[in-house]
Amino acid sequence: MTTIFTRIVRGEIPAAKVYEDDEFLAFLDIAPANKGHVLVITKQEFETFGDIPTSVLGRMMQVTQNVAHAVVSATRAEGYNVIMNNKPAAGQTVPHAHIHIIPRFTSDTFKLEWPHQKYGGGEMEAIRKKIAENL
Ligand code: AMP
Repeated sequence: MTTIFTRIVRGEIPAAKVYEDDEFLAFLDIAPANKGHVLVITKQEFETFGDIPTSVLGRMMQVTQNVAHAVVSATRAEGYNVIMNNKPAAGQTVPHAHIHIIPRFTSDTFKLEWPHQKYGGGEMEAIRKKIAENL
């Protein structure tokens, strides 16, 4: 499958690139949550976080941290979110793993909210045990 991000990597469609090396590319999100919202991608297509080889992921995190510092400096952001959506159920619309770096301002209108649910009796321990057993 050729994703829209692979087409950007190949130069078939334009992107506002801020960083590029042999393995990674970072460019402005075309529909930003806030101006300066950047996407960091692997040039090779991996669908999700879990599909990226660990060694590649380590370097991707270094690139993400460097770019995040630059985004904050350039936009004078008061904070930032580093977010990855994995699979459509989690909001992933482009099936090519990408990390969002979103500059944040106390005055902005971007909301990152989730419900605060409660565990029933024994439920927390049951899920803790299941997760630990899967590691
Ligand atoms: P996600 O919902 O996590 O899969 O995020 C995909 C992101 O890619 C969205 O925020 C889109 O605005 C962004 N996007 C889609 N097409 C392009 C493009 N051609 N150039 C830059 N960003 C894009």
